[in-house]
Amino acid sequence: MPIASINPTTGETLKTFTALNESQIEEKLQRAADIFHSYRRTPFAERELMMLRAADILDSEKHELGRMMTTEMGKPIKGAVQEVEKCALVCRYYSENAKRHLADETIETNASRSFVRFQPLGPVLAVMPWNFPLWQVFRFAAPALMAGNVGLLKHASNVPQCALAIEDIFLRAGFPQGAFQTLLIGSDAVEKILNDSRVVAATLTGSEGAGRSVASIAGKQIKKTVLELGGSDPFIVMPSADLDKAVDTAVKARTINNGQSCIAAKRFIVASGIHDDFERKFVMEMRALRVGDPLEESTDIGPLATPQILRDLDEQVKKAVAAGAKVLTGGKQLEREGNFYEPTVLTNISHQSPIYCEEVFGPVALLFRVASLDEAIKLANATTFGLGSAAWTNDTEERMRFIEELEAGCVFINGMVASDPRLPFGGVKNSGYGRELGEFGIREFVNVKTVWIDK
Ligand code: NAP
Repeated sequence: MPIASINPTTGETLKTFTALNESQIEEKLQRAADIFHSYRRTPFAERELMMLRAADILDSEKHELGRMMTTEMGKPIKGAVQEVEKCALVCRYYSENAKRHLADETIETNASRSFVRFQPLGPVLAVMPWNFPLWQVFRFAAPALMAGNVGLLKHASNVPQCALAIEDIFLRAGFPQGAFQTLLIGSDAVEKILNDSRVVAATLTGSEGAGRSVASIAGKQIKKTVLELGGSDPFIVMPSADLDKAVDTAVKARTINNGQSCIAAKRFIVASGIHDDFERKFVMEMRALRVGDPLEESTDIGPLATPQILRDLDEQVKKAVAAGAKVLTGGKQLEREGNFYEPTVLTNISHQSPIYCEEVFGPVALLFRVASLDEAIKLANATTFGLGSAAWTNDTEERMRFIEELEAGCVFINGMVASDPRLPFGGVKNSGYGRELGEFGIREFVNVKTVWIDK
């Protein structure tokens, strides 16, 4: 895959980049290893100030950065600007809370004193996806840098301008040269970097295949990994739910970021008593979405990020229809330039159809009818993924069942699954392992060192 910015709205190549050669990679790895020895000793107060400056830069440049994301990968500009604001928020969160999250923890034992100290590990490689080109990186980088680690970013090949902008923000914020570096490389260069002893750990956000590959290489080297992979989140609606609110949220939860979000709601599981009403309103609202130029403030859905993603989605829908699925709205690519796909709702989805168990990365919703709470939970869990889950109900017993029984890294009751700097984020099953954000996130890339002292 070339390292290039190609506008998904027009197909125009905006800029191409040459991948780093071996000696340039070597220089960057050595710089990361060298700077770690001094950077890890910078006082928290200094790191806090630099991280606050990064937040200020993000806030003051949110419109330019938002535009950059939109022209590189097609997300609607409203969401792009909000994404930059959220990056500023995560920088502020860790600036204010890292010291507290990583303070020594005393544990009473038979020693005169025993406690736990959290220490940085070293250079961490972050392999990142294009769908939230800034947010995915900042939610790794803010805690990693605050903990005293240094970061090496291998970003997705279709968002090189975003990748370079992030490095530039950290430099302008005052972080020393080498504390956070972008490596413009293809995925074929990752193995050698992971095998290098100067890189001590890795985090990957992306597809299951990429996760398996990175984790197995790191595993052979006995290096810690965090994996944030795909999802096929259920969105369950029970009879006691506020139906109008559930429908509005369902539309947003499926189509946010043009449907290309790991935690987008993908499977809508609705109790039979309210199913027909839900279907009617849901289809109506999906049809009413404005598809078009993502730089327009009024656009709800822009193009998919690459022609390949468009082809994959189209193929998934065609196979589902061939296996008996009914198209309630949409179901095809838009006849215009750019990678546009119609907001789509499918029902009657056969268990034999690949779409039943695959992740659907685009504005295509799968709608299911269930006769009972047990059936809803069973269907929700009938996936190899386990990232997010949402359940709509005002029945206390039902809530308890969802909280207890849904196999996912989070469950949102009467709300849309979303990440929040204060709350841990991550999955179970093939959605990955480890957590980002909150206190759990900053403790992933640290040595949890036990200290035991006798008189
Ligand atoms: P992807 O193809 O796996 O790419 C993600 C990153 O991994 C890119 O930087 C890519 O580089 C690199 N990569 C791909 N194959 C690799 C390999 N064999 N070895 C090393 N690196 C490799 O995923 P994507 O299509 O960009 O992103 C969509 C996926 O990410 C979806 O499955 C989505 O659900 C998931 N995601 C998960 C989360 C989460 O938090 N759980 C968040 C966002 C997205 P190149 O671009 O150079 O190929």
